[in-house]
Amino acid sequence: MRRINIAIDGFSSCGKSTLAKQLAHHLHYTYIDSGAMYRAIALYVIENGLVIDGKLDKVDLLRVLDQIHIGFKHDDVSQRSETWLDGRNVEHKIRGMEVSRHVTLVSPVPEVRAKLVQLQKALGTEKGVVMDGRDIGTVVFPDAEVKLYMTARPEIRAMRRYQELKGRGVEVDYASVLENIERRDEDDTKRAADPLIKAPDAFEIDNSDLSSHEQFDIALGVVVKTIGVVTEA
Ligand code: C5P
Repeated sequence: MRRINIAIDGFSSCGKSTLAKQLAHHLHYTYIDSGAMYRAIALYVIENGLVIDGKLDKVDLLRVLDQIHIGFKHDDVSQRSETWLDGRNVEHKIRGMEVSRHVTLVSPVPEVRAKLVQLQKALGTEKGVVMDGRDIGTVVFPDAEVKLYMTARPEIRAMRRYQELKGRGVEVDYASVLENIERRDEDDTKRAADPLIKAPDAFEIDNSDLSSHEQFDIALGVVVKTIGVVTEA
């Protein structure tokens, strides 16, 4: 069966990673969470005092950017790929609200994007990758054979994220989750460098009223149209 790359873009907390993991599992592909890389850089700037009065110290970040090492390793206990920053597993830390609040300070920085896009492109050279993010179908894999663009109403996305955080024992309130999602939508669509836009050849899925099964069936239908029937995982 022909191996392809699948690009999934969309707003924050749209269920991109759920769908990407389902597709990767079904196709025996590798799932890569590009947002985790931006979150790792955000954690770095928080931990290294590069955010002063809510502003990023860009000069100092650019001085050390080349030395920041971000990678993924499979964890045998969680059975998932987890994010590592400079030799340390940061998977749990990068998912918290503090990182969510700071990530759009670093994601518009062209040098940060250049570094991470280069890493992401390298991960896709062998094909067989499902990657989710904001600029995957437009910048990282403009030649991806399948491009999906996901949307859902902000209140629904916020409720899903709120429940996910609560489920992981994070102390959080719904209003601040919604506020963070709406602010990141605005930041991600309006920034100058690689903003979130729908690639002209992307297939759009609004999953506001879809179950994850229904969403998977629609996405798999798009994949099958491109590569033919997929044998069961
Ligand atoms: O996907 P996730 O919500 O974890 O991404 C966190 C942030 O990282 C986004 O709000 C966005 O600012 C940034 N991001 C990006 N480009 C990507 C993936 C994520 O700018 N490809």
